[in-house]
Amino acid sequence: MKKTVLVTGGAGYIGSHVVKLLKQEGFEPVVIDNLSTGHREAVRYGKLIVGDLKDKTLLREVFKTYKPMAVMHFAASIEVPESVKNPLKYYRNNVCNTLNLLEVMEESGIKNFIFSSTAAVYGIPEEIPVSEEAPLKPINPYGESKATVERILRDLAVADPEFRFVALRYFNVAGADPAGELGFAYPNPTHLIIRAVKTAKGDFDKLEIFGTDYPTRDGTAVRDYIHVTDLAEAHILALKYLLSGGKSDVFNVGYGRGFTVKEVVDAVKRVTGRNFKVVESPRRPGDPPQLVAKVDKIKRVLGWKPKYDDLDFIIRTAWNWELNRRY
Ligand code: UDP
Repeated sequence: MKKTVLVTGGAGYIGSHVVKLLKQEGFEPVVIDNLSTGHREAVRYGKLIVGDLKDKTLLREVFKTYKPMAVMHFAASIEVPESVKNPLKYYRNNVCNTLNLLEVMEESGIKNFIFSSTAAVYGIPEEIPVSEEAPLKPINPYGESKATVERILRDLAVADPEFRFVALRYFNVAGADPAGELGFAYPNPTHLIIRAVKTAKGDFDKLEIFGTDYPTRDGTAVRDYIHVTDLAEAHILALKYLLSGGKSDVFNVGYGRGFTVKEVVDAVKRVTGRNFKVVESPRRPGDPPQLVAKVDKIKRVLGWKPKYDDLDFIIRTAWNWELNRRY
């Protein structure tokens, strides 16, 4: 029997890395993506259906045709600053479209769901590293949209005990496929590592540091940067967990240590061997001072063993990708 997994947003950055691992693990990934930020060429290991999650007729057809054993839901808008400027886009795209997907899953009797959540659901955590038990208090519409979906999933799992989900709360995902096949490919990225790498390459004339007055070791914000392939591996483990009867649950995915913006910028200069202009700017709206994951739960319950907990390696793979991009 084909072990089909439906992957929304599988032509995007994280989804495409997960699709590669799914195929390697003997699953049959089927991608649905509207290609708004994803790339056809990123779907190297499965079928691509170009379409939008607002189209329930299409979703019904896809579920009927492929009968997936699980759904992995990556398709979403993901940039904090954009969400502050355009919240309706975030609620429409991240909440309404997820509702469509869940409704059609329910109609079709599909019960396993893996959701891309985010550390942004915590807002400004009282304790660092932050554990999964910390309250959800997002401080930007992006985090709010993801926290809303988590609540919907929790309620749905109560209403229908056969429906089970894993929500993975990603910390700061960066880097690229170590084999160089896949990587980040959005036109005007705002995320720090990719922005810094592209500045090193000459795509931007300077890098801004947003906020130098945070209560951190050098005044710049701290984040827990993790390699995209380790994150992808966490999805495979989450899938196997659900398929073997695991209960609905939520896991942080980070390494449990943080770097400041200045530390990241220095590392990008060192790894790329390029100097570039850096300017200090005011804080960016919606940014918490620190986000570092407590990660014992995912290691204990899912057996996750990250392989690339190395900032230089993360940056090197992002740099290699930027120099040799395939799309
Ligand atoms: N940041 C920065 N300059 C940039 C991009 C990001 O100083 O060009 C900072 C940003 O303000 C935040 C941290 O880097 O404190 C991580 O931001 P990113 O957008 O990468 O991820 P987020 O944590 O917002 O999801």
